Amino acid sequence: MTFENTLAFAQKLDSEDKLAKYRNEFHFPNSMHTGKPALYFTGNSLGLMPKRVKEYMDIELDDWAKFGVEGHFHARNPWFHYHKFFTEKAARLVGAKPAEVVMMNNLTVNLHLMMVSFYRPTEKRFKIMIEGCAFPSDQYAVASQARLHGFNPEKAVIELVPREGEHTLRPEDILAKIEEHGDELALVMLGGVNYYTGQAFDMKAITEAGHVVGAFVGFDLAHAAGNLLLKLHDWGVDFAVWCTYKYLNSGPGSVSGAFVHERHSGLKDIPRFEGWWGYDEENRFKMTKGFVPMEGAPAWQLSNAPVFNMVAHKASLDLFDEVGMQALRAKSDLLTAYMEFLINGLVDENGNKRFEIITPADQKQRGAQLSILSLSEGKKLFDFITEKGIIADWRNPNVIRVAPVPMYNSFKDVYEFVQILDSY
Ligand SMILES: *Cc1c(COP(=O)(O)O)cnc(C)c1O
Repeated sequence: MTFENTLAFAQKLDSEDKLAKYRNEFHFPNSMHTGKPALYFTGNSLGLMPKRVKEYMDIELDDWAKFGVEGHFHARNPWFHYHKFFTEKAARLVGAKPAEVVMMNNLTVNLHLMMVSFYRPTEKRFKIMIEGCAFPSDQYAVASQARLHGFNPEKAVIELVPREGEHTLRPEDILAKIEEHGDELALVMLGGVNYYTGQAFDMKAITEAGHVVGAFVGFDLAHAAGNLLLKLHDWGVDFAVWCTYKYLNSGPGSVSGAFVHERHSGLKDIPRFEGWWGYDEENRFKMTKGFVPMEGAPAWQLSNAPVFNMVAHKASLDLFDEVGMQALRAKSDLLTAYMEFLINGLVDENGNKRFEIITPADQKQRGAQLSILSLSEGKKLFDFITEKGIIADWRNPNVIRVAPVPMYNSFKDVYEFVQILDSY
């Protein structure tokens, strides 16, 4: 498609957008600076609130008042099974079989639970590979897992860094590094999308390369769930975890997801932290000694479902299931490409681009985020656009992250954002 830098063109794209109506499903906050509805581009940090959350929440509050403990089985959405309302939809969202997914805990907690099972270092095979610029929580998690097993993180944690003068990792370099560390590699644990650069990784190729050298392969899908088309089962990924408050719009600190490939289901000797909610459901309340695991990922559950922490996810996942990731991704590609086109069109008097986008131009290597390098401008540029009513995200040392989110952002939003950028 040939794009145009005009309001009329942006509005034409909106009028052709089959998902445009979903914008109305969300509350848009006002900018604290203009007092008017913000141009919201931070769905990669905290997604907007679906309006239907209130209604879903009232159901659980009313049923708690009405039933007390009996609500576990007699509420309209019986709490005993609450996590199961997600199973089918979460499986579709990440490309898994239903038994391979479970919603529980928070992201970093799930990452640790997965590493208890899938980081099983030996004297010879003890390394964990992560991105050099991984989200801090992931860095702390892997380093502490290495220490837990008596290894020095300096030696055990291998970081992937871009080549000199480049911002993102070359796909072939990732695969080469995996091969290089070979039989010393116990686990490859990367983000599906790097939170800083917005680079999406080829999870299929990375999983294959990891398995070739005998390592487990897991992904942190914090920035990939609800953003990319995922096929975790077919790709053969060993485990994955994701939060639901970013692209999945399920509210601050909301429940997270975990995927465990079916090949690890039902293994008796797998190391795992266990609790009563992972125990075979039929006999759970017999309260007997000796752990009998649930089939699949639910065996990793520890505690009973935190229902109020899950309500917003129920509301949001219903929306995602209605829209479907295929349609969402199609709009996302177009929306991000339009933003990229407009930003790249901003040139100075010498014809040089005023802003450098460090997110890959290749659509297969990105989702709904562009990271704009702000070298010479520093944080001044960010403060300027914030005062003009944009909610975006500043990351040290020098990147502005913007996420045109296909579920609720419009082409007009994107156009207006770039107009403000241009006015700097
Ligand atoms: C957002 C994010 C987190 C946050 O972890 P919580 O446990 O949900 O607080 C962790 N890792 C990555 C890669 C993230 O993007």
